[in-house]
Amino acid sequence: MKILVTGGAGFIGSHLCERLLAAAHEVFCVDNFITGSAENIEHLKGVNFHLITHDITQPPAVFTENNSAFKVDQIYHLASPASPVDYREIPLQTIMTNSLGTKNVLDLAGRLCVPFLLASTSEVYGNPQEHPQKESYLGNVNTLSERSCYNEGKRFAEALAYNYQRHFKFDLKIVRIFNTYGPRIRRHDGRVIPEFIRCALEGEPLQITGDGSQTRSFCYVDDMVDGLIKIMSVEEKEFVGAVNLGNPQEVSIKTLAEKIITLSGSDSIISNAPAAEDDPQKRCPDISLAAEKYGFAPKIGLDEGLQKTIQSFKK
Ligand code: NAD
Ligand code: UDP
Repeated sequence: MKILVTGGAGFIGSHLCERLLAAAHEVFCVDNFITGSAENIEHLKGVNFHLITHDITQPPAVFTENNSAFKVDQIYHLASPASPVDYREIPLQTIMTNSLGTKNVLDLAGRLCVPFLLASTSEVYGNPQEHPQKESYLGNVNTLSERSCYNEGKRFAEALAYNYQRHFKFDLKIVRIFNTYGPRIRRHDGRVIPEFIRCALEGEPLQITGDGSQTRSFCYVDDMVDGLIKIMSVEEKEFVGAVNLGNPQEVSIKTLAEKIITLSGSDSIISNAPAAEDDPQKRCPDISLAAEKYGFAPKIGLDEGLQKTIQSFKK
């Protein structure tokens, strides 16, 4: 099959491209490298891998009506900055990629009428008042905060995709991805796992924002990619609604910091900084829908996944 992956040079996208190529598909990776890197996809170069360097918010050469030569059988739409540090530094690129950029990619899905997977996020639940989060929970999101370029951007992307699907009737999969980590996540990404591992390996303090009692549930990237491919592989006649993907093993940020110090054999200390604005206090996916409908079952626990990630950072 010919498969388009937007954001294919990013962390999750590069692992996805790798797995699709290993399954003998032809992959078209669209990326503008704003948060991805050429290094992530260097090893993928070959006859079945096509890199299209392009900003999806810009007039879309490959997506235009008159470029009828550009045909694919499936679209995975992953392009979007994904770190809270990015939301602070590049808010406009973040919100425009999720709105205008998503629209441009959806135009292609509508024209070709092919399965389209939107990489949405647990951030659509905001600072959740329901725990764990089921897909039916409608969220608690602040439109006017540093995170809104991302969480409201993704909420709009979901609504846009849903309405394109109602109009064009293509097979839409909206996947709400919970915190995912693993090799190739940017070293200076700012997200908690790469940041804590980098600091632990460089002997710097691991800085906890807030008191560290806030929780997250971390999924290893191989499990996430398994889930994305499983969901894409099931042909749906009707839209089934959003699906959570993640690992429900929940941990406090304080415990995470201690674990990373132990697993990396570091002498780093833990320090504290003021809590971040609108930082979700609890996050854990209810994955029963993904498990029952798609046979999703994350296999790699936090300790094992952290060890693999620490090893990759050491290299
Ligand atoms: P990433 O930043 O490593 O990857 C995103 C990729 O999209 C990068 O290669 C970047 O250059 C590209 N991109 C961004 N804007 C673009 C644009 N306008 N045009 C073309 N390319 C563009 O992030 P990631 O962690 O791999 O996340 C991938 C997707 O999964 C994102 O949509 C993100 O919102 C979603 N997601 C990730 C997590 C996570 O924990 N990693 C959690 C929830 C949702
Ligand atoms: N965090 C932290 N120190 C850091 C980075 C993050 O304590 O150096 C906290 C952050 O405040 C949040 C959690 O770790 O409570 C997860 O943050 P991350 O940026 O990884 O992603 P989020 O889940 O908030 O999108």
